[in-house]
Amino acid sequence: MRPFTYTGLPARVIFGSGTVSVLAEEIKALKASRALVLTTPPQAPQGEQITEELGSLAAGMFTRAAMHTPVAVTEEAMKAYDKAGADCVVSIGGGSTIGLGKAIALRNGTPQIVLPTTYAGSEMTSIIGQTEQGEKTTQKTLKVLPETVIYDVNFTLSLPVGMSVTSGMNAIAHAVEALYAEQANPVLSLMAEEGISALFGALPRIVASPQDPDARSDALYGAWLCAVCLGSGGVALHHKLCHVLGGSFDLPHAETHTIVLPHALAYNAPAIPDAMTALKRATGSDDPAGKFFDIARQGGAPAGLRDLGMPESEIDRAVEIAFRNPYFNPRPLEEAGIRRIIRAAWAGDRPS
Ligand code: NAD
Repeated sequence: MRPFTYTGLPARVIFGSGTVSVLAEEIKALKASRALVLTTPPQAPQGEQITEELGSLAAGMFTRAAMHTPVAVTEEAMKAYDKAGADCVVSIGGGSTIGLGKAIALRNGTPQIVLPTTYAGSEMTSIIGQTEQGEKTTQKTLKVLPETVIYDVNFTLSLPVGMSVTSGMNAIAHAVEALYAEQANPVLSLMAEEGISALFGALPRIVASPQDPDARSDALYGAWLCAVCLGSGGVALHHKLCHVLGGSFDLPHAETHTIVLPHALAYNAPAIPDAMTALKRATGSDDPAGKFFDIARQGGAPAGLRDLGMPESEIDRAVEIAFRNPYFNPRPLEEAGIRRIIRAAWAGDRPS
């Protein structure tokens, strides 16, 4: 017997194509009637269209959501919320826009409806990271968990191929670590394997045909399951390394996850036999780490951290920071091994 604890997070999920059509009903179901629509600047046209369709249910728009949820932007959005007399937010976008909605909810408890347009998965978590004067702080609180998530496959068709691949690998990384994190449990392992299988199978089809509705649907379905894994499960070495690299060297989020995952997995493989069995089933390969590397490369993702601008001279500092406040990991952290991972990830080598 293997004892476990499972904590599910409450969220209402609507999945399909054209599901944006239920947005008005979902706003009313939350007993709200004045939505502030949130987007990044490039996604403002999508926000405008939805605002128009919502008619009197839309109180206004705020289209300046930015990466890493800067507090200064949140303060501007709070003013827009109050000025518009809003009573809920509709976040249309990826982790940056969803992060802004969460930051508003953290401050005033507003209900959130989210239409995710990437595979990053913030919509299913109670995690919020915010930046102020270059410092990022992260907290976990149910106050920021979105009430309603409307997955509309049509909103993902415009996600560029390169971003689809790196965002998809970012999602896969959440599920991979849920399989062997301290909080691993049979329910999340089922979701993780199914999520990885769906996304892993979809990414090459998206690369070949970015508008393929079935491939996009499989990817978004997989992304949802991977997001649940992030929201209810735990993380380990891979996420630790990505947090170190992203936070200390300002490397981009999804690309860093894509590069590091094969190496972190190859390091942990000898210590996680059950997870490897699940990953072999999900990828149809005896070498899941190598397959993740290949799929990312075939999709045009950068191979190494050096391609993201990290100087070779920073490898030692990255190793040193990785040992500060280490996360749980199924294989003990050995300095030589961690150095090997970071060097291989930096150089863009295939994991061995
Ligand atoms: P993003 O939200 O920053 O989006 C990147 C760019 O792509 C933006 O310009 C956006 O407008 C554009 N874009 C998004 N969807 C598009 C689409 N369908 N078509 C065309 N353009 C589109 O990227 P992301 O990777 O989704 O989010 C990254 C951020 O989310 C990071 O700050 C990360 O820390 C955070 N995040 C948080 C959690 C959490 O649980 N709190 C989870 C995952 C990621």
